[in-house]
Amino acid sequence: MLTIQPIPAFNDNYIWCISNQQKQAVVVDPGSAVEVIRFLEKQQLVLVGILITHHHADHIGGIEELLSSYDTNIQVYGPNSKRIPQITHIVDDKTPIFINELGVSAQVINVTGHTLEHIAYLIDGNLFCGDTLFSGGCGRIFEGTAEQMFTSLEKLSALPSATKVFCAHEYTLSNLTFALMAEPSNSLLLDYYDQVKQQRQNNEITLPSSIGKELEINPFLRCDQAEIQSKVSTKFNLSTSLDTIDCFTYLRKWKDIF
Ligand SMILES: [Zn+2]
Repeated sequence: MLTIQPIPAFNDNYIWCISNQQKQAVVVDPGSAVEVIRFLEKQQLVLVGILITHHHADHIGGIEELLSSYDTNIQVYGPNSKRIPQITHIVDDKTPIFINELGVSAQVINVTGHTLEHIAYLIDGNLFCGDTLFSGGCGRIFEGTAEQMFTSLEKLSALPSATKVFCAHEYTLSNLTFALMAEPSNSLLLDYYDQVKQQRQNNEITLPSSIGKELEINPFLRCDQAEIQSKVSTKFNLSTSLDTIDCFTYLRKWKDIF
């Protein structure tokens, strides 16, 4: 039985803490150490591992300090990246991994797009997807191509609908503001927007989401929808009809300038 809790950091990052009943914990993408150290102390958890999705500073900046803060042997799992020298276990989608320290297995999914070597972890029906999939949105495409990002999101969309989605940022409300421009007639999206707005007014976290929820409301997973294709065409003055990948490419461009 795993417990998953958010550790807020910076303006809107969530460092996810996964712990077992033996009070052992791994953290996902510790961009900062101080919040993690404080959290572990308060919950009396022992840090045994770190999972990294990609090399950006707000996801790896705390690794060094965490490693030097504890005597325990802390394993660092992550993608094959020269930019993350602290990794002790390079992992990819070829083989399932077993996180000994936590006693659980994890599936790694390669999700190129936001960065080239970005990976996601699927642990016991829980998806830790870094900056690839957000609730109501997706990550910016910094290193990969739109096609690669589209393919990565398709892999995540194909997971069981009950899969819980633990995103790395609290972007939901601003994503939904954009989503409503792209698909204003989606009643499920309108309902979700009202719910999220209320949650944020109460300073509540909007995560985890689920794959089923995202398929209903996330325009980046719905580029086959006529209304989104039509809005994108209008926005960019396109005369030809769009296929799903073209629609995704233009939708991401639109979001970049939104
Ligand atoms: Zn990033």
